[in-house]
This record gives sequence, C-alpha cells and structure tokens, in this order.
Amino acid sequence: MLADSLPWQPHDIAPKQGHIEDHIGNHTAPSGSIWRIVHPLRSTIPKALTMSDQHPDHKQQAGLPTVVDGKTIATSVPTCSPAISATIRERLVRAKQRFHANDNIAAFLEPGDLERLLDEVEGKMKGVLESLVIDTDSDHNTQNTARRVAKMYLNEVFRGRYVPQPPVTEFPNAERLNELMIVGPITVRSACSHHFCPIMGRLWIGLMPNEHSNLIGLSKYSRLAEWIMSRPQIQEEAITQIAELLMTKVSPDGLAVVMEADHFCMHWRGVKDSETKMINSVMRGSFLKDASLRREFLSLIDLKK
Ligand SMILES: [Zn+2]
Repeated sequence: MLADSLPWQPHDIAPKQGHIEDHIGNHTAPSGSIWRIVHPLRSTIPKALTMSDQHPDHKQQAGLPTVVDGKTIATSVPTCSPAISATIRERLVRAKQRFHANDNIAAFLEPGDLERLLDEVEGKMKGVLESLVIDTDSDHNTQNTARRVAKMYLNEVFRGRYVPQPPVTEFPNAERLNELMIVGPITVRSACSHHFCPIMGRLWIGLMPNEHSNLIGLSKYSRLAEWIMSRPQIQEEAITQIAELLMTKVSPDGLAVVMEADHFCMHWRGVKDSETKMINSVMRGSFLKDASLRREFLSLIDLKK
C-alpha cells in the first residue's frame, strides 16, 4: 500500500492562514494549487512517534514549506522512511505469505528489524496509554510501561512469531521402537488472539513410532510447543499447529495431542468463570483408526491431576 500511495493528494480545502496544526497539513504546491499532504501512516502514528519527534529536521522531511522573506516556497516531496512494520508487511504481501497472529514471520525479518519493531511498538503502546488518559509523565508506575510491554510482546510472550523454529536433532529409530510413547504434561503459556489475555495450560503428546520415524530428545517437545504457543493463539489452532509440526519432524505412525488450558479472558472478564477449562485433542494416523490405542493413551494421561 505504501509503495502505491502518493504522498501528495489534491485537496480542495484552502489552508488555514498562518496556522499549521502539525507538520502534516495543507500547503501550497509549486503549481499554486492547494494540495494536502496525506501521510499514509498518519492515522496510525501515535503522538510519541510522529516524525517531528524522530527527526530534528522533520520540516524538510515532511515537506513543510520553507518561508523566505515572507514568501512560502514549497519543499520537495517527503522522504520520511516508513515504519518498520510497514516494510515487513510489504515483504509478506509481496511473497503472498499469510501473517495472522499465530503465524511465524521470522523468514521476513532482516538483522536489526526486531530492535526497530521494539521502538515502534513502544511508541504505539505509549499512544494507547495516552488514549487511556494515563499521565505517563507524572505517574512513576507507568513511565516505562510502554517499553516494558513492547519488550514483553516481542522478546517473550509473542517471541514465537519472530524467531525461527528452534533446532531439533532427529535420530533414526534404530531400535525400531513401536510402542506407545507419551510425553507430558508440558506446561504451555500463551495469550488468546481475541483479548490478548493469558492462556495457561498443559499438553500431552502420544506417539506411535514406526521403523521410518525419527526420534527427538524429550526436551525438544517442550521447545517446539513453546515456539508455537508464544504467539497470540486460539487453542484449537494451536493444537493443530503443534500436531502438524510433530508429524513433519517425527513422521510417526500415529500422533495424539491433548491440551487442557485456562483462558484468563474467561476468569478476568466476561462471564468471570474461574472453573472452566478448555480441553481439546487432535488424533492422527493409528490413533484415529485404532480405538483401543486411543483409549490406552487417554487412560494414561490423567487430566484430573
Ligand atoms: Zn480471549
């Protein structure tokens, strides 16, 4: 969208005489007609991140007219670089790649992008605090909240969107193990895509290997689950993503995944029900076909504990 939109668009409203509300307003274009600078990012840039704060020479960059001897001389087209999120989004759109909340976009990030994203999220988070009418200048508790939240999102709770899959060494099933194997409970932590409220839960994985399966170290199941869960998630989609990842890594004969989780958007708000837990399961291969195998797995994982 950015690449296609022109920074100048014709506008038929005359500028306010001698009064410029901010650095993006009405200006006289070289032709003498009235133009209005419409910055494509204007509506989404919070006050804290406007170009005036980022660039000391913002007037030149934003295309503000220069006044010489009382005459207004229009300046060149703005050269302000787009927000880093817009650049990344452009790469994703060009590659026709989906970027939903629970998708990983690490392949579309370049060195230094995460640091720039951190600054951008901090600025926008500051805008959210301002819109909540919180005096972040005087309130010592919220002075650095915007930065803390930005770091928490990008480096911790949603890290699984921005970093590549953790390395997993796969070993061939040399002993030709073909007995039911269960890993769990693995503690899982996430946030729901709908409210960004925490989801805390447990995960069990049942595997039925065959001679063509790969075996991976026990701790790797937790690492892979964590990578999927540290994104804004929907439990049903999260468990499917985990199942698909394990099917490609391990190539088992059958796979069973069960997740039981507490959704804090149910406890903290809405119905405020603190007892409800959501349990879901995904069965693949032999677990789908063989009811006794499924029963064996479900009896061995004790959801009540
Ligand atoms: Zn929710």
